[in-house]
Amino acid sequence: MDETNRKHLLDLDVAGITYTVYEDDLHQLGGYGELGYCDYMTQTIVVQYDVPMQRKAQTIIHELLHAMFLETGYDEHDEDMINRLGITLTPIVLGGELEKIREFANKDEESAGE
Ligand SMILES: [Zn+2]
Repeated sequence: MDETNRKHLLDLDVAGITYTVYEDDLHQLGGYGELGYCDYMTQTIVVQYDVPMQRKAQTIIHELLHAMFLETGYDEHDEDMINRLGITLTPIVLGGELEKIREFANKDEESAGE
């Protein structure tokens, strides 16, 4: 595989396994989805480089869901389910809803230590 256009974006911990997220020109590589893919064996998520940032983020979340299902043993899972979960999870992640839960959990921990 030609990896010359590949650029590292971030690393994601999925159940203790590090998935490395890259952007690349998937159209040039061929044989993959138009927007992204998740490779369980190489712990890699790759997204198409020349799409708007929101679409790239939505695709990373979609591929993260694939990784989550694969890491929990759902080797065969429904693409339509991943699509639907991705669409609902994207505004939760991008809108900072998870950050609210994290702050709530940390606040609870701090007050418990008083
Ligand atoms: Zn998918």
